[in-house]
Amino acid sequence: MTGIDMDSLLVVNRGEIALRIIRACRRLGLRVVCAHSEADRDAAWLRLADQAICVGPAPAAKSYLNIPALMAAAEVTGAGLIHPGYGFLSERPEFARAVEAAGRVLVGPSSDVMAMMGDKVQAKRAMLATGVPCVPGPDSVLPDDLANVRRIAAEIGYPIILKAAGGGGGRGMRVVHKDAELADALVVTRQEASRFFGNPGIYIEKFLQKPRHVEIQVLADRHGNALWLGDRDCSMQRRHQKLIEEAPAPGIDRALIAEIGARCAASCREIGYTGAGTFEFLYEDGQFHFIEMNTRIQVEHPVTEMVTGLDIVAMQIDVARGNALELTQDQIRCDGHAIECRINAEDPETFAPGPGRITAMHMPGGPGVRVDTHAAAGAEIPASYDSMIGKIIAHGPTRAEALARARAALAEARIEGVPTNIALHRQLLDDPGFSAGGVSIHHLERWLTERRASDG
Ligand code: ADP
Repeated sequence: MTGIDMDSLLVVNRGEIALRIIRACRRLGLRVVCAHSEADRDAAWLRLADQAICVGPAPAAKSYLNIPALMAAAEVTGAGLIHPGYGFLSERPEFARAVEAAGRVLVGPSSDVMAMMGDKVQAKRAMLATGVPCVPGPDSVLPDDLANVRRIAAEIGYPIILKAAGGGGGRGMRVVHKDAELADALVVTRQEASRFFGNPGIYIEKFLQKPRHVEIQVLADRHGNALWLGDRDCSMQRRHQKLIEEAPAPGIDRALIAEIGARCAASCREIGYTGAGTFEFLYEDGQFHFIEMNTRIQVEHPVTEMVTGLDIVAMQIDVARGNALELTQDQIRCDGHAIECRINAEDPETFAPGPGRITAMHMPGGPGVRVDTHAAAGAEIPASYDSMIGKIIAHGPTRAEALARARAALAEARIEGVPTNIALHRQLLDDPGFSAGGVSIHHLERWLTERRASDG
């Protein structure tokens, strides 16, 4: 049996985030091992790792989600640190528990805190208790009897939204516009909650009609220190999937953001949160309303890295190793503006995933341009996984300059062999609404509807 090596990290993820984690390990001088599926056997990032270990066939349930196989990989390779990336097992408390039980360290919060923040009702209760503002509505699951639920809904005022306590990925939510729709909506949402999330608990909130999605990045160590590393605006979404993200959120009073950020950091200290995390808020009419916490690194972390100059992935590994944060809050600065475009292999009209082999690929560069991708000519975008090819990030001293650099970068980008959304991004970067800054979470869907209408 191999021992547990705390200078050795196992990546239990794939694609661009696996490569991003490898880069952070190189920077920290750690040995890095990548667990992979049979479908990724020839993937380029594996060649940059010190060791690659196949954990199962292509379906994620048998490889990237296969806890016994991944724990066996940690055992045979001796890796003491385990990085889950985003998606897959990154927010599964049962995986965090398995890692802890094996005497290893997950790059993330403890399993208990992860479980608490993964239950949206418990998370909301914790936020209210620590002074983080939430969407109006009770911090408990709904009672069974309709009369009581109707009373609660009337108190909040329609429209309201019903949400599964165990929900995620934009599922298990239903907007209700009037009392007459409530009874049916309750039945269907309860059924979905049980079926999809194995937890019938649902709760109720005021439905905000034109909010922006604004989030706060936090980082906390195991010594009681917590920092907030600025904010991001991720309002450009289609079906709750973010497409363009930026830092900082344009046009919001910086003093208000600083107050919310400080509360998020304080909340981390109070609930014993450790690692990198994101507090997600809906922002409307000058007010922040917490909706959920992501207890992992996020796809859009590079925009924060660009404006702060920090390596958040290296820092989250560093705190997982038990090191104390070296920076203090007054040393965190936000310099200029950064915009990220997620490049997906997908049909530009239907958004259906477009897996296949990339035959030619050219990515942009130049001042302020960063490309995070594992792909290159010859790479396979497998049908089994998410269709993201990578991210193009542009940074500039002002938002206008960041936008100009993003436009130039997207104009230079070429990917052949699979369909991509590069042309869509170029149109969006020219959209007067987005260019002006501060659009709501409905802007992109509305823009797409108008485009379809004018095409038809
Ligand atoms: P998930 O975990 O499924 O992503 P969230 O709670 O983060 O669920 O909500 C996903 C999205 O649903 C939000 O980004 C927002 O677009 C919408 N949403 C959630 N709660 C509300 C609300 N109270 N009012 C308006 N929109 C909401």
